[in-house]
Amino acid sequence: MTKKEKPVTIAENIESIKAEIGAACADAGREAGSVRLVAVSKQQSTEKIRAALASGQRIFGENRVQEAKSHWHDLRLQYPDLKLHLIGPLQTNKVKEAVALFDVIETLDREKLARALADEMQKQNRKLPCLIQVNTGNEKQKSGIAADALAAFLQFCRGDCGLDIRGLMCIPPQEENPETHFRLLAELARAHGLPELSMGMSGDFKIAIACGATLVRLGTAVFGGRG
Ligand SMILES: *Cc1c(COP(=O)(O)O)cnc(C)c1O
Repeated sequence: MTKKEKPVTIAENIESIKAEIGAACADAGREAGSVRLVAVSKQQSTEKIRAALASGQRIFGENRVQEAKSHWHDLRLQYPDLKLHLIGPLQTNKVKEAVALFDVIETLDREKLARALADEMQKQNRKLPCLIQVNTGNEKQKSGIAADALAAFLQFCRGDCGLDIRGLMCIPPQEENPETHFRLLAELARAHGLPELSMGMSGDFKIAIACGATLVRLGTAVFGGRG
């Protein structure tokens, strides 16, 4: 575009996203407030993160433990009502730091990790709610458990590990229509009585809300481009 426009602030982005979320809820016949915005702050500057905090945003998502620590170690103390969600793959050697820093783990996807999280939560006396990541597209390179392995895995996480499993999360394959994947995830959650559904990013969150998302994870729509 050639026309010069006044730069949009993060507060304005958040305000318009909230309006879009509200409208998508109304369209779907869902209560306003049934969908929460997770602002994905990976690869964003502290300045932008502070702007989001100043506008009242309190739920943030990060996909790497190390980067999350550098973003949030100090800010965390200033904002006691902050909720940090881990939305990227977690290696077992990072579990200790993850349990200390995060409030919700959205990417639980294997038995070894479930066991390690349960042990560490007990040690730190922090019981974090978790979501199970489902690989709805059966992509080889992607994390998440297969849909047909969910029932047994859920049983393992709850029964054997005593984890607090609240819902499911997915990242649909890039080349496919996300709606199929959102519907599958919603169906799995319903079948297992799981209330939380983390699905939908900047490009497809309205579709996700129509399919039942309760958490939408937005990065570029909130902060602009990364890097
Ligand atoms: C980066 C990321 C997002 C945010 O993506 P945008 O397209 O910038 O909204 C959401 N979920 C996960 C798991 C991510 O890694």
